[in-house]
Amino acid sequence: MTNLGLYVHTPFCAKKCNYCDFYSFRADGETYDLYVKKVQEELMRWGARTVRPIDSLYLGGGTPSLLGGERIASVVSAAKAAFPGCDDIEITLECNPADDLESTFTTAAAAGVNRVSVGVQSANEEILKILGRRHTANDVGKTVRDARLAGINNISLDLMIGLPKSGISDVKNSLNFLLEQNPEHISVYILKVEEGTPFYKNTPALPDENEVSEQYLFVSEYLKQHGFGHYEISNFAKPGRESRHNLKYWNCEEYLGIGPAAHSFLGGKRFYYDRDINKFLSGTAPIPDGTGGDREEYLMLRLRLADGIIYNEFENRFGVFPCEWKKTAEKLSEMGYVELTDKGFALTAKGFLVSNAVIGEFI
Ligand code: SF4
Repeated sequence: MTNLGLYVHTPFCAKKCNYCDFYSFRADGETYDLYVKKVQEELMRWGARTVRPIDSLYLGGGTPSLLGGERIASVVSAAKAAFPGCDDIEITLECNPADDLESTFTTAAAAGVNRVSVGVQSANEEILKILGRRHTANDVGKTVRDARLAGINNISLDLMIGLPKSGISDVKNSLNFLLEQNPEHISVYILKVEEGTPFYKNTPALPDENEVSEQYLFVSEYLKQHGFGHYEISNFAKPGRESRHNLKYWNCEEYLGIGPAAHSFLGGKRFYYDRDINKFLSGTAPIPDGTGGDREEYLMLRLRLADGIIYNEFENRFGVFPCEWKKTAEKLSEMGYVELTDKGFALTAKGFLVSNAVIGEFI
C-alpha cells in the first residue's frame, strides 16, 4: 500500500479576497485554539483507524500561517505521531505574504515544515487592490527571504492570470517578479468568477477568452525557457521540485483531508467534512461522497499531468486500455490537443487550455 497524503484545511483568513469562494472567515485566537485541538483529536482518531504512514502533509486553507508557529508546530507534531513510519515527509504551509512570518517560519521549520506556498497572484499593486489582497508585491520578497532564513528551501509561488486590467505585459512583469524570487515551484491559475463572491455581484472588466488563452500559452513558454517543467495544467516546477502532495491527487492516489470543507479519498471511497466550523468542532462525521478511483476518473486526473496516460501503468491498474480511447487520442492528436508517444499519450499546452472539453471527448 502506498503512503498516504494528509491535508489539513484551516478555514481562517484575516480578510476575504474579492474572487475567493474557499471556505474561510475571520476568527480570533480562542477559535484557533479550539480548531487546533479538534484537528489533533481527528488526526489521532484517523491515524489509529488507517494505520498508514504519510509522506506528505499539506497545511492549506484559508490562511494556515495565521495560526502562528506554535499552533502549526503542534498540528505537525500530532500528524507525525498519529501517522508514524515515514522519515521523509513533504510538509507544506500555505501563507499570505501580508503577515510578518519570520518567527512563524522559524518555529514551523523546527517542527518539520520544509515547503511553503505563497499567494502572490500579481506584481501589480493596482491589480492586487482590485483583487482585495492584503499584501503588496514588496511583502513577497520579505516572506521568501524569511522562509529561506528559517531553512525552508522549497518555495512555491502562486500567480493568477486573466485578471482585471491585465494584458500580456502585466503577466510578463509578474512572471519576472516571481523569477526574481528564485522559487522552486510556480502555480498559475486563471481567474474564475465564482458565485457568491464580491466579483460575482460586481464583476470587473476582464480580458476575453482569446486574451486569456494567449496569456496561458505565454506563461507556459516563458517558464519553460526559464527552466521550469510544465508538469500539470496549472503547475510548473524545477526538476525534482514537483509537489509530492498534489501529485497524489492527479495520480489518483489516496489522501485524507481533515478540517471543515476538506475532502478525502480513502479505501476507494470519497467523503468530506461539511463547510461548517461548528459542525467540525462538535465532532460531526464527514459526509460520504460516493466511490472513486475508477478508470474514467483516473484518465481525467492523469490527463492533467504532462506525463498523461502511460498504457503500462493504466493496464496494471485496470486491465486492457480501451480501444475507443486510443482512437479518440489519435483524433485529438491530429487537432493538436494530444501528443502520442509509443508509451501512451498526453495533452499538449493547447490541450491543457481546453482540458475539460478534451477530457469530455473521452468520457
Ligand atoms: S487569502 Fe486565499 S483563502 Fe483567504 S480569502 Fe484570499 S484567496 Fe481566499
